[in-house]
Amino acid sequence: MFRRLRRPRPAAPAVRPVAEALKALYKAKLLPAEESFAFGSFHSPPLLDADFEAKPMVLVMGQYSSGKTSFIQYLLEQEIPGARVGPEPTTDSFVAVMHGESEGLIPGNALVVDPQKPFRHLDPFGNGFLNRFFCATLNNPVLESISLIDTPGILAGAKQRVSRGYDFPAVLRWFAERVDLVILLFDAHKLEISDEFSAALGALRGHEDKIRVVLNKADSLEEQDLFREIRELPRNAARRKLNDMVKRARMVRVHALIVSRLRQELPGLLGGRGRRKRLIQQLPGLLARIQSEHQIPPGDLPDCAKLQEQLLSRDLSRLPGPKRRLLAGLEELLGRDLPALSPLLSEEPPEGPAVRGGALDGALGPFGAEDDEDDDEDDDGEWVVMKDKAKYDEIFYGLAPDGGKLSGRRARGWMVASNLPSSVLGRIWQLSDVDRDGMLDHEEFALAGHLIGAKLEGRGLPADLPPRLVPPSKRRHKGSAE
Ligand code: MG
Ligand code: CA
Repeated sequence: MFRRLRRPRPAAPAVRPVAEALKALYKAKLLPAEESFAFGSFHSPPLLDADFEAKPMVLVMGQYSSGKTSFIQYLLEQEIPGARVGPEPTTDSFVAVMHGESEGLIPGNALVVDPQKPFRHLDPFGNGFLNRFFCATLNNPVLESISLIDTPGILAGAKQRVSRGYDFPAVLRWFAERVDLVILLFDAHKLEISDEFSAALGALRGHEDKIRVVLNKADSLEEQDLFREIRELPRNAARRKLNDMVKRARMVRVHALIVSRLRQELPGLLGGRGRRKRLIQQLPGLLARIQSEHQIPPGDLPDCAKLQEQLLSRDLSRLPGPKRRLLAGLEELLGRDLPALSPLLSEEPPEGPAVRGGALDGALGPFGAEDDEDDDEDDDGEWVVMKDKAKYDEIFYGLAPDGGKLSGRRARGWMVASNLPSSVLGRIWQLSDVDRDGMLDHEEFALAGHLIGAKLEGRGLPADLPPRLVPPSKRRHKGSAE
């Protein structure tokens, strides 16, 4: 379903001056303002050291059975423990797929107390959420550079929304604020947008720059761009962190201005009976005045209705009044400190570490760099599958081909017996069905057997079929088709 791509480039280790500077600035200027103005309880909990130190993260979301888990497994070329595709326990859970020495599944309640992981502030979403949150650890090379977050399938209809048991859009927003990339998978056959889907899209507001929409069964160009971008995530992590810090500082500034003004000028708005009505009547005007006085872009204002609800549910006499020093610190941060980091971005090593391994990686293994010179070989080169052809012919004819060809259904049982993940078998099928007729002839079948053998020995699959693997009778076909 997802096609192959070109190899990544080996890369030098990263130096992280920008991340370090951001952490220091956050603690010195942003965090004190967040704490003082109760930013956490209105918008987003404070950032932790683990947030600055975590590997780049990719959030994979989409409708139910749009292929989120398959996409991740395809990328890793490995099954996620406990996350079988289909209606199994973790399928409606958030699963952080992260690197670990051994395979395992860590439950949410243990995750939020682990200071090494950036999930401690998911705690307030409660047990309804924590029972649906896991970390799957895998010893996979891709995960040495990035982490992936699988999400519950978004369902159609209003009923599903109440049955989650936690604030699903709020959890999505929490992740969207922290991840480097949001992959939104659409199944081309169900493009209608359910209530929950619109709420989920709403949760991504302000993070549109991170979203990549992928139509399931999309054309390969789109996938190549996406995979290229995933490979480059570590290189762009500093830019993303700076960008997110600017967004966050702007939100904190607007929040601080609103809270200060509420306390300062409108005590009558906040107390006593009828305050709901007064808030509903007057809050929009107040926000508009703050916006024009401080030249705030309209998109930076919080949602007025949501703010009303939040104000109604708390003891407003405890909100702080204006704090000149903190507000001045925010202005400095936005006007001077954060812009000063921009030039550092271009000074960071141009060759940051790219993500390697899994489906991102066509270069390693038997078809990799050391074999590159073979790519230029003329079409008369020996077919490397030939030496095992007799062995595979025996199996091929034993599977009772019809008109000299095996359908996917006929070949499936034998391929599945290899115990390779279905995502890998899908790629092997694509590579082997050289003439793309949806069937395997005796040569294509031998090629599939050869690729399965290579994969079982722990080698990679080629990004594209090199000439020496193309069956002799298909070489003309392959050449003219591309
Ligand atoms: Mg799934
Ligand atoms: Ca074929």
